[in-house]
Amino acid sequence: MGSWRDHAKCRGLDPEIFYPQVEEVEEEDAAEAIAVCTACPVCEVCLEHALARREKEGVWGGTTPRERRRIIRRRRRSA
Ligand code: SF4
Repeated sequence: MGSWRDHAKCRGLDPEIFYPQVEEVEEEDAAEAIAVCTACPVCEVCLEHALARREKEGVWGGTTPRERRRIIRRRRRSA
């Protein structure tokens, strides 16, 4: 059975695009990765995967680590 990763738009791309080497990844550092994610068919699954794993590094599902922390906080408040 195929995994969502088989449909990932970032497959085969340079991982450095998704892991900008900066202390706190801002949207402008991640612009190229976010553009790829925006066109990715598994964007939502990818984001949920990263949220579930508390993925602290890199761009997942079109989000920076800070955006994911924000989503987690927001969900906690409304839970
Ligand atoms: S949403 Fe972005 S990081 Fe996730 S699989 Fe798609 S291209 Fe890769």
